[in-house]
This record gives sequence, C-alpha cells and structure tokens, in this order.
Amino acid sequence: MPTPDCLICGAELEYFNTPRKMKCAICGKEYETTAACKEGHFICDACHMEKGIALIQQFCTESESRNPIAILQQIMARPEIYMHGPEHHVMVGAALLTAYKNSGGKLDFAQALQEMIRRGKQVPGGACGFWGCCGAGVSAGIFISIVTEATPLHREEWGLANQMTARALQAIGSLGGPRCCKRDSFTAVKEAVLFTEEHLQIKMELPDKIICGFSKFNEQCKKQDCPYFADRSLK
Ligand SMILES: [Zn+2]
Ligand SMILES: [Zn+2]
Repeated sequence: MPTPDCLICGAELEYFNTPRKMKCAICGKEYETTAACKEGHFICDACHMEKGIALIQQFCTESESRNPIAILQQIMARPEIYMHGPEHHVMVGAALLTAYKNSGGKLDFAQALQEMIRRGKQVPGGACGFWGCCGAGVSAGIFISIVTEATPLHREEWGLANQMTARALQAIGSLGGPRCCKRDSFTAVKEAVLFTEEHLQIKMELPDKIICGFSKFNEQCKKQDCPYFADRSLK
C-alpha cells in the first residue's frame, strides 16, 4: 500500500514557488527542487521512481488485461508505488500501451514500453501545478504519440498526440486541485480509452464505475468532490 508523502519520515510535502538547492536524502546528489517534506527531506525524481518503474515494466509485460484502469489499480496497490510521484507519468501510458496491445492494437510492445519509460521519466514531478501540464495527461499524449509513431514533423499523428494531451488535461483541470496522482491517472486513462476508440478504432475496456481505494492514504483527498471517491454514493 502507498506510504504517506515523505518516504523518509512520512511527513507531508511542501512546495516552493522558487527552487531551492537541496541534497537528495537517498542518493545524496544535489538538485534544485521545488518540493521537500515539512521536516526538510528532499528525494530526487530518479530515486522516487526507481522501484516503481521496474515494477511497471514487469507487470505490463506479463499482463493480458484489456482494461487499463484495472492495470493501473493493480500496479498502484503495490508497495513500490507511492501515493503521489512522477512514476505515474510512466504508469498511465504503460497501462494504456498494455491494454491497447491486448485489445488488438499493432505495435512492437517491448520497444514501445521502453520508449514510454524513457519519455515518461522526462516529465518531472510537480509539472501539474508548476507547468499547468499534469504528467498523467502528458503520459496519455505520449501513448498516442508512440502508437501513431508521431514525430514533430508529422501532420495527422502530431495533431492526434496533442489533442490527446489537451483532452486529458481539460478533464483533469476541470476537476480542480489539489493534485492527486490517482485521480489524475484515472481521468487521463479514461479519456484516452474514449479517444483511442474514436480515432484509432481500437476498443479497450473500462469498468462501469471507477472506484478509488487510496483515499485514506491521501492527506489532500477531495473526498465527496472526487468522482472516484468510494463513499460518494452515501452522500
Ligand atoms: Zn521527511
Ligand atoms: Zn536521489
């Protein structure tokens, strides 16, 4: 199950509008960062993601599911994945690539997954609030870019990849913050499943209702205001 925000002491994270130079509490390398826990621990993106990415790669390689939400939930339930973090920027696109392949989408899966990991890792933690560009939404755009083999010089594929990111961000943004990597990932994947069926005619599966099991691990959970909150029906 996911741990609270700081991997060292469990304290909540704080974000700064201007970066500070800090040493990573795990690898000791110095970085400029806009996030640290209230006790002063900073963990770099690479250290935060390391175990999670290895799990994502192994899980997606073995999964036969056509349902990318189910894939997300299975990966998220593992201890290698934290409540929030940039590993979600790889996870969203990896779950989509997996379900796409299992639904009949044609691609060199091993190579596509490797490329998803490479590109997703470049999207830093906190891009949602600082860039106006949630990494889960970007990950859905990377998924479309990979399956259509888009490059900056393509016409139609270029358009589709950018439209995908825009659509995911529209849905994510309209729900409002604070950031939740679970809510944002579910939203991006749901939009990507609909988009893929509309534009690429590959039909992946979605559950009738997406229910989040991570509310109690999220200090900033929006609860009744989140469409995936488990007790919403009891309102
Ligand atoms: Zn800490
Ligand atoms: Zn580090």
